[in-house]
Amino acid sequence: MKVLFVASEVTPYAKTGGLADVSAALPRHLGRAGHDVRVLMPLYDRTDTSRLHLETVVPELELRLGRHRYAAKIFRGASDPEIHFLHCPALYSRGAIYTHDDDEHRRFLALSYGAIALCQRTGFAPDIVHANDWHAALLPMILKAFHTRDPLFATTRSVLTIHNLNYQGSFSSHILPDTNLAGVSHLFHQDQLRAGRVNFLLHGLLYADAVNAVSPTYAREIQGPDHGVGLDPFLRARSSTVVGILNGVDYEEWSPERDRHIPHPYSRDDLTGKELNKEALCTGLGLPYVKGIPLVGIVSRLVRQKGLDLLEAVMPDLLRRNGFQFVVLGSGEKGLEDLFFRMQRAFPRQVCFYRGFSEPLAHLIEAGADMFLMPSRYEPCGLNQLYSLRYGTVPIVHRTGGLADSVTQFDPRTGEGTGFSFEQHDAAGVRWGLEAALRTYRDAATWRRVVENGMAQDFSWEKQRKLYELLYNRLQNRQ
Ligand code: ADP
Repeated sequence: MKVLFVASEVTPYAKTGGLADVSAALPRHLGRAGHDVRVLMPLYDRTDTSRLHLETVVPELELRLGRHRYAAKIFRGASDPEIHFLHCPALYSRGAIYTHDDDEHRRFLALSYGAIALCQRTGFAPDIVHANDWHAALLPMILKAFHTRDPLFATTRSVLTIHNLNYQGSFSSHILPDTNLAGVSHLFHQDQLRAGRVNFLLHGLLYADAVNAVSPTYAREIQGPDHGVGLDPFLRARSSTVVGILNGVDYEEWSPERDRHIPHPYSRDDLTGKELNKEALCTGLGLPYVKGIPLVGIVSRLVRQKGLDLLEAVMPDLLRRNGFQFVVLGSGEKGLEDLFFRMQRAFPRQVCFYRGFSEPLAHLIEAGADMFLMPSRYEPCGLNQLYSLRYGTVPIVHRTGGLADSVTQFDPRTGEGTGFSFEQHDAAGVRWGLEAALRTYRDAATWRRVVENGMAQDFSWEKQRKLYELLYNRLQNRQ
């Protein structure tokens, strides 16, 4: 199959979260399975392409968005799979991947039109156009509006993957002319248009040939009012075609045996290195290292979704009573950053908050921590619990979305289960999860069992990419 994969972020060129990891790994694994996959993303000013030999494939491209004109180019980087960058400094030299600027809609409309131009100018006739999140969600509609008779796209089918329904790209309808779709405005959702809104993700849901979310449970949850963020009626309307495919893990990047970011490799058979990584982590962060004291880790965007506000009510008491250590890496909302700074001041020998984004530290926390905490309110898939399982770092999670699909509650009677999973999203739930994990940790043999159960799990892309192939094949009637 020929696949064009369009995303706003791709590891290692730009990353704020899981979308970037998926956009790197899924195309790579599809490519290895024999498909011709091209990835397109914007070339941000902070993107480091120094290790790529960039070749210009579209030297002159004028992107027209309503009355706006942008000079652009498309570069190709020799990587696995082939990566294409839409170079348009007027839109992407902002010092950040996402902005609150007035032209945010145009920044990503340009990506959709850039995707069409890439196909046209290089003669690439995709079987599948795979759009990710709101940033590329108008692409299926653009294909339907302008290209159904275009031989290049004659057999093209579109897939929209929802990585997070909360980010919808909802703009005032004043932007309609910029979409170039004003002439076919009947294609827009009329009630929304009358209400003065244009919602990119909604139109992806309406026009993509297939829609999937990044875990089966999240695919179900978003069809209900609690997690549907206003789009649940539209998802229900096409519920027979909304599927959930759990993300995989790029085990080349995330395996304790060969992780280039950690000083001491280790494996399920020999966990010696894990303890040494814990020591390195504590020492590196200025925490005392004491063997036998459990260490709980968090690596996260600090946003409401992640449910970390619940920790305010439970952590101080738990830290005092149980004496464990707690390391947090992340940045985001000021209230949450302040919460972790306060905890660090109150428990300087137990808590370290590293405010920022650090790939190496994220890996070291996965390797060095004993437990990994994810009390997310909702979690489309979640990657860190999958990484944690492989690193023998026992996940403590709220049973929602992809967390419910990947972490099974440990049962000491049977010895089955890979982590601790609480049902109720409240302070009592988190407390229960943490206390259960800390209690189990005290019994070394039982703990070892949970750790090994987790490390034996296989969430590889080799497995998960086959589900995307099935989806693509179904769309092309090539079962
Ligand atoms: P989301 O996409 O909602 O942020 P995921 O769990 O799907 O959540 O993916 C998060 C990814 O981003 C993981 O690879 C995680 O390690 C990474 N990440 C999040 N915050 C940071 C940070 N501060 N430093 C380094 N990596 C981070």
